Amino acid sequence: MSEENQANGEETMRVDPQRAQVLAENVGGVLQKISGASGGRKVRLIAVSKLKPANDILALHREPPQHVHFGENYAQELTEKAAMLPRTIKWHIIGALQTNKCKPLAEQVPNLWCVSSVDTAKKSDALEKGRAALAEKQELSEKLRVLAQINTSGEAEKSGVEPKDATELCKHIMEKCPHLQLAGLMTIGAIARSKASTPETENEDFVTLRTVRDQVVKNLGIEANDLELSMGMSSDFEAALRQGSDEVRVGTTIFGERPQRKDAKIKMDTTEEKK
Ligand SMILES: *Cc1c(COP(=O)(O)O)cnc(C)c1O
Repeated sequence: MSEENQANGEETMRVDPQRAQVLAENVGGVLQKISGASGGRKVRLIAVSKLKPANDILALHREPPQHVHFGENYAQELTEKAAMLPRTIKWHIIGALQTNKCKPLAEQVPNLWCVSSVDTAKKSDALEKGRAALAEKQELSEKLRVLAQINTSGEAEKSGVEPKDATELCKHIMEKCPHLQLAGLMTIGAIARSKASTPETENEDFVTLRTVRDQVVKNLGIEANDLELSMGMSSDFEAALRQGSDEVRVGTTIFGERPQRKDAKIKMDTTEEKK
């Protein structure tokens, strides 16, 4: 998509001032809780905008840019939104990503900032190819950050590499993927454990991710500081922060309940928004 198209896309996108205010207040509330639970550490808030219209993202991003980190789950949806929104957004893909979507995504979205859900060497190779192809076409100074997704709960339906295979995957990314930067580890965890955890008890999944991080840095001879932990969503981000998370992914608390995938709209047109 050309710069001109992109500019047009931004120009025609309407931001409802009332909605913008609600969203800004919601983010403010989350940031306040983050600062309460993080003990003063610097923490990244990813606003998870999947299935929400681009208008909501623009309302939060603003000009000059206010909030910059946004997370999406579906490659197609991210690609479409990225094409119509400012390049100053730092996109994260946080959902289970199919191997065949990796190369096009890394190649087509220059401001894709992080892929949080790498769980096979094949996916990292495909992302590497896409990023290398993009680097050939344009000046790219930054590597594409990737997180190794770890299946800490052992649930069959969760994606992520098993803890025992984490070192091998991380090593592969570091040694074989020069256009990627292994930035950390990510987990989603079991809902039941998230519900069961209180300020007094630790969430087992978060304990496991920390343990895996300690093992990986030891095995690879790198610093713990070089591998961030991405854990915590709307229901459990404060618990995750108390257990050392560097990055939280919060959707519902900021944007409200999500529509079903079949009803989701990439962009709201003016008439619909007036309802
Ligand atoms: C959707 C999603 C989130 C955000 O979930 P909320 O409960 O809406 O905050 C976080 N992480 C991942 C991997 C997701 O898929």
